Amino acid sequence: MYANVSVENKSNYIDSPFTYGTGDLDLKVGSKVTVPFGNKEKEGIVLSLSDKTELDPEKIRDVISLDEASSLNDEMVQTAIWMKQRYAIRYYDALNLFMAPLKPRKRGTPKEPFKDIESDYEKPEELTDEQKMAVRRITEAQKFNHESYFLIHGVTSSGKTEVYMEVIDDCLRRGKGAIMLVPEISLTYQLIQRMSGRFGKENIAILHSRLTLRERSDEWMRIKKGEARIVIGARMGVFAPMENIGAIILDEEHEATYKSDMTPKYDTHEVAAKRLMYHKGALILGSATPSVSSYERVKEGIYRLIEMKRRYNETPLPTVEMVDMREELRSGNASIFSRRLEEKLQEVLEDGKQAILLQNRRGYSNFISCRECGTVMKCPECNISLTYHKEGNSMVCHYCGRKYPAPKLCPSCGSKYIKYFGIGTEQVEEKTRELFPGYRVDRLDIDRLKDRSELERILGDFAKGDTKILVGTQLVAKGLDFDNVGLVGVIAADTTLNIPDYRAEERTFQLITQVAGRAGRGKDRGTVIVQTYEPGNYAFKAAREHDYGKFFEEESRIRSFMEYPPFGDIIMVNVTSDDGEELEKVIEGLRAYMLKLVGEGQERRVMNPKEAVNFKGHDAFRQYIILKAPRGKRNEYVHYLDQYRKNILSQRLQANITIDVNPYSIF
Ligand code: ADP
Ligand code: ZN
Ligand code: ZN
Repeated sequence: MYANVSVENKSNYIDSPFTYGTGDLDLKVGSKVTVPFGNKEKEGIVLSLSDKTELDPEKIRDVISLDEASSLNDEMVQTAIWMKQRYAIRYYDALNLFMAPLKPRKRGTPKEPFKDIESDYEKPEELTDEQKMAVRRITEAQKFNHESYFLIHGVTSSGKTEVYMEVIDDCLRRGKGAIMLVPEISLTYQLIQRMSGRFGKENIAILHSRLTLRERSDEWMRIKKGEARIVIGARMGVFAPMENIGAIILDEEHEATYKSDMTPKYDTHEVAAKRLMYHKGALILGSATPSVSSYERVKEGIYRLIEMKRRYNETPLPTVEMVDMREELRSGNASIFSRRLEEKLQEVLEDGKQAILLQNRRGYSNFISCRECGTVMKCPECNISLTYHKEGNSMVCHYCGRKYPAPKLCPSCGSKYIKYFGIGTEQVEEKTRELFPGYRVDRLDIDRLKDRSELERILGDFAKGDTKILVGTQLVAKGLDFDNVGLVGVIAADTTLNIPDYRAEERTFQLITQVAGRAGRGKDRGTVIVQTYEPGNYAFKAAREHDYGKFFEEESRIRSFMEYPPFGDIIMVNVTSDDGEELEKVIEGLRAYMLKLVGEGQERRVMNPKEAVNFKGHDAFRQYIILKAPRGKRNEYVHYLDQYRKNILSQRLQANITIDVNPYSIF
């Protein structure tokens, strides 16, 4: 017998599997093996087995050993192979996503993260009619032993999480497992608390990147052995080594973090759907503000829609007020608080309630420039303007994370008139403290989350009511469930609207709706105050009226006209090199190739090359070209572009090419 093995390596030149003899080992597709490679030993995964080989049997060496415990199975290998083609990534990079980061431990007991977590979860006495209906539709569909895809469009607090838990319960009863994903690691904590109260922590494993490699490997093993049949995780959880998957749930399915923007690039929705075809399980996407792409799939009959329109306790959705900041300025108020917001904050606090203030930008100021000569402080590595952080008195690049000391004098002209523009969370926190000295203010953004316990403390203090005002980035908008929040203020709602991305309106609508959902989850109706310079934008109008349908209609009209996703695909090809001339040559060739690919009369589909400012990599020169593919052409174009990439590699040109379909940030 011969085994085709994908061998561990990082080289762009080595991707095809290598053939080995199986010796007397009992190998299967997915077996993790050690093989001879040159004069070294390397690890690999068996992709396929065969009786014959076209190679000279004399020259074929045998597999050295098998690591049964760390092996994958057929489904995982097939999914990885599919990913390789769909995303034009390497076999081993795709397989690696399914593997434990470390070898199984030889001794000692696994360290279960959050083993002793406390939970005050109580199962509701009765589900609402909408909840019952949702559960019934999903579990009924499962009886046909066929994969099924659902989108739950449920307003915030409609009780989606209870529905997920019922579905998970049903999976367990049928002897299957379930994977539940959230878009942000910071959201896993509340979920683990709730789920462990219901299912017991011993049945739950956690997978996300803030666990240590040892913890992650131990959790991996608990899943593989079937000890933990529920997985809670961030997007990497979709690769859980579960043998029998009954359901994969993506909560807040619209979030950008479900798309991996690092190599290997992939889309969690698609990987989940692919795995479930094999397992014949249910894909459940849930959101109060579904992505335009997912909602379009409902319209096309690919996903089944479940609507949950009522909040479980019938609290009305909060009133959303827009404040026109141009008016504020005209009447002489240059503060970051409009008069309306300040007044309402005062009222809510005096009432003993709490407030959340959203500013979707961390740091103090997001823009630093010299008033003498106009120089803007930029990261020399990324060419991106630097954000001033008062904590540490430094300028930070939000792309690469590099820190620079804040300048006292302008580096270009020596002037001391350095000015800071824009508002970040640090500044909102500071100004809020000044304005409301009697109330405790806290801040939640990734700068505050240096370790795991910080998040728990910040959320804990707010839940207990010790913190009266919580200032934060979008982290405060997502899924947090507190009873006593009477007011949500959005400081500068245009921050997300003005990013150069075709999804800017979608993200703005989502962010406002989501953060609005944090208000008035208790008994009383809450208030949301949105400060903007563009109150007429349709995203704001629809958010004010809680009207998703209206937003979707307007947005999909524009997208379909522009052939933006989901009505077409944006294929971005990045080329980087240490050699500027070589880069130009490759880019020119690539553009010509793309023009040929799209055919005559379709030239408008190929954009001009641009410098890639936000590309994380070591090469000095980087450019990208965008190709707008019409619907149905994605796989074909990706395939041919991948051929082009291989061709460049085989010529040993000094250039790296990566392909990203529908990337989440284009600048
Ligand atoms: P969503 O995920 O849709 O925002 P959740 O599932 O988090 O909503 O529910 C919001 C709150 O309502 C939670 O505190 C939950 O315990 C409670 N809840 C949900 N369904 C019920 C029910 N049927 N009876 C009582 N309380 C419920
Ligand atoms: Zn200057
Ligand atoms: Zn940088």
